[in-house]
Amino acid sequence: MYDYLVVGAGLYGSIFAHEAKKAGKSVLVIDKRPNIAGNVYTEKVEGINVHKYGAHIFHTNNKKVWDYITQFAEFNRFTNSPVANYKGELYSLPFNMYTFNKMWGVVTPEEAAAKIEEQKKEITGEPQNLEEQAISLVGRDIYEKLIKGYTEKQWGRDCKELPSFIIKRLPVRLTFDNNYFNALYQGIPMGGYTKMVENILEGIEVRLGVDYLENKEEYDAIADKIVYTGAIDAYFDYKLGNLEYRSVRFENELLDKPNFQGNAAVNYTDRETPWTRIIEHKWFEFGKDEEGNDLPKTVISREYSSEWKPGDEPYYPVNDEKNGKLYAEYKKLADNEPKVIFGGRLGEYKYYDMDAVIASVLDMCEKEL
Ligand code: UDP
Repeated sequence: MYDYLVVGAGLYGSIFAHEAKKAGKSVLVIDKRPNIAGNVYTEKVEGINVHKYGAHIFHTNNKKVWDYITQFAEFNRFTNSPVANYKGELYSLPFNMYTFNKMWGVVTPEEAAAKIEEQKKEITGEPQNLEEQAISLVGRDIYEKLIKGYTEKQWGRDCKELPSFIIKRLPVRLTFDNNYFNALYQGIPMGGYTKMVENILEGIEVRLGVDYLENKEEYDAIADKIVYTGAIDAYFDYKLGNLEYRSVRFENELLDKPNFQGNAAVNYTDRETPWTRIIEHKWFEFGKDEEGNDLPKTVISREYSSEWKPGDEPYYPVNDEKNGKLYAEYKKLADNEPKVIFGGRLGEYKYYDMDAVIASVLDMCEKEL
């Protein structure tokens, strides 16, 4: 008998297990995948740490979270500065003076502000959806070239149907600062995320390739409590209907050249290109191997977004009103499961960044352990 069975070896589950062990509890971690680390999993290909489930760039303003995670890995000084490719025109992201200069030829912050001011006039009153929010932040030109196509591909929904908070993730700056995140701390764990999660899970029993929901009764019987980090609607066998998620598919290519696109992330912001972005993984670590040598080859991943259907991996919860209501119903069911703690992006149906997941699990540990 274990004190805790943790379902899912991603960040939430691993950190919970680590803290439980530290508190003297017995804990077993299981995951249906053949590997630990959930969606932060990285795999070495030709000396390059490939982010197998999409790019993960750690960033936070939370010192407690930063101090916590840096126990398990040293972080490099990677700063995310994606480039947008709109039909062959390149723009700097997030929206900053380089972007405004390229878009409008403006040179001073005042000129840029005046352009935005003039274009945002079309939105009167409080923005009601992502489209209105975007136009009122940066104006119609930028909305049309850098936001609309990308957002509609990523979410598979019209920008008028999407909640405005999604676009508020992106900074708008009247300075020549193209650091994507407003974060005090940022970087990529040296040696890869998988190594970091291995360190978190050190000394903890982990069983991979086992499906909790398929053998639920058996697993429920071996622990006093369950920490479940899978999808909340799957836990309840979708009995109230399924929550909507976006899934992602990656086409990975190993290229026999040192440099494909000169940047870790290039977003394809037009509607016609079928992928949303291309990640060139080596640039997360400056194109070097662990000894500091230049890597001769490169691995790229084209990212395609699709609506989740049963059997796919869920990546992004679609946090709109309709799904919010359904989630609230599932949450009520979850609250009536005294043995089970639901956590993480899928367990809480929340568009969490990694640092928010860590903050959330540490809070839970304080209450629980
Ligand atoms: N976004 C956009 N154009 C871009 C990049 C992002 O319009 O070139 C918007 C889009 O609505 C997207 C949101 O910003 O859904 C968040 O994007 P981000 O790339 O930060 O999301 P991630 O997939 O990294 O969580």
